[in-house]
Amino acid sequence: MPPLKKRKISPEDSPQIHLKNGVQSTTEDNTASNEDEPIHEKASAPTTFKELGIIDSLCEACEALGYKAPTPIQAESIPLALEGRDLIGLAETGSGKTAAFVLPILQALMDKPQQLHSLILAPTRELAYQISQAVEALGSVIAVRCAVLVGGMDMMPQSIALGKKPHVVVATPGRLLDHLENTKGFSLRQLKYLIMDEADRLLDLDFGPILDKILKILPKEGRKTYLFSATMSSKVESLQRASLTNPLRVAVSQDKYQTVSTLLQSYIFVPHKHKDLYLIHLLNELAGQTGIIFTRTVNEAQRISILLRMLGFSAVPIHGQLSQQARLAALNKFRAKSRNLLVASDVASRGLDIPSVDLVVNFDLPHDSKTYIHRVGRTARAGKSGKAVSFVTQYDVELWMRIEGALGKKLQEYETVKEEVMVLAERVGEAQRAAAMEMKELHESRGKKGATLRHTRTGKGGAGKRGRDDMDQDEG
Ligand code: AMP
Repeated sequence: MPPLKKRKISPEDSPQIHLKNGVQSTTEDNTASNEDEPIHEKASAPTTFKELGIIDSLCEACEALGYKAPTPIQAESIPLALEGRDLIGLAETGSGKTAAFVLPILQALMDKPQQLHSLILAPTRELAYQISQAVEALGSVIAVRCAVLVGGMDMMPQSIALGKKPHVVVATPGRLLDHLENTKGFSLRQLKYLIMDEADRLLDLDFGPILDKILKILPKEGRKTYLFSATMSSKVESLQRASLTNPLRVAVSQDKYQTVSTLLQSYIFVPHKHKDLYLIHLLNELAGQTGIIFTRTVNEAQRISILLRMLGFSAVPIHGQLSQQARLAALNKFRAKSRNLLVASDVASRGLDIPSVDLVVNFDLPHDSKTYIHRVGRTARAGKSGKAVSFVTQYDVELWMRIEGALGKKLQEYETVKEEVMVLAERVGEAQRAAAMEMKELHESRGKKGATLRHTRTGKGGAGKRGRDDMDQDEG
């Protein structure tokens, strides 16, 4: 991976982007390029963590985790972080971006140990847990203490964890603010590092008011800030809100909508009324693969999961209206391979590190290209190959053309023989009816007890508190 040319930027400038192939851009869509920009030789790229400036004990931690060489985003951002720069890191999920920000903060922590040294913010609870696991794994050699503050879980154990004065706090914004306001003795006044993962989403309007409050409380002097994301809005006001000082941008994608080359993307043109049939046909064809099936709504995720189970597939749903425990349990089953299909609303599309996913199916197309990138980023990670198949119905043609436009290429059609698909009609029809019954029962029991599924966003109850926890739930 060729090293990138470093450029300093003034706060008035749009931050400059350092791209893998030496092409630079200062624009949102990264279309501008500079042919004269030197392209550095591959041979000079650092091949070890030590060469990047990482201390021996952390190099050993990397080795113990099987990280043989730094990934491109690590090779580019770690030296800059160790120089003490604020960073905006643009890299697709699966590129190793978590270690790219965790290693520098651990190294700084070793240099000057301090409680409540770093705060890592993430938009979803699952991502927060995943980051904390990386902090603990990489920081085990230095006995790092890490606390996770996320919504949907009891606040008391989290307050107790804060009482133990952790070095690193990983949090979703709503719950962090709750603790800042209500947990006695908890303050981030001495904070040295603020990291925002999936930063574009954190800087979105959704989290806006909460994030503004948090940023007001955090110290600005002497604090380093890293923003990491696969996609990023370069709106200057967003960046100013995050209080970056002279940030450098590091990008390892050639453009905002790049997907990895080991990912085979295709689409199937499907009549809307036969979507279930085509899904079963596809899963039969690709039997044995691990996959994530994305739906647009919570109900569909639940229904498809039931339908698949009725037809003998091993599927588990995950969406924002399951309790936090149920979501973690679903993910664990999937990770442990006791289920090989995860049926997910977009809550699962961002940042989750689910290894060895062979297949992503967009059963419902996402509303925008950004979400498409995040969804298909669940497969073909860390150099592995993967397939992404999108269902395009007669109602989705315009949306699909927009997605293809953003990707900058026309995708292949996945070949199906209609007669072979229609053979399944009777069996699938029966399962659909049974699934509809089960959904009805689920809704009825939910009405009575609020048991499996929790109330929808528009439901009543605990307005202020619920609002913050809901923010953390993502759009599932
Ligand atoms: P991330 O993009 O941070 O979600 O990381 C994706 C996966 O890559 C995780 O399972 C990491 O443990 C793994 N990973 C991170 N850095 C490296 C590396 N240098 N070599 C191999 N695997 C890595």
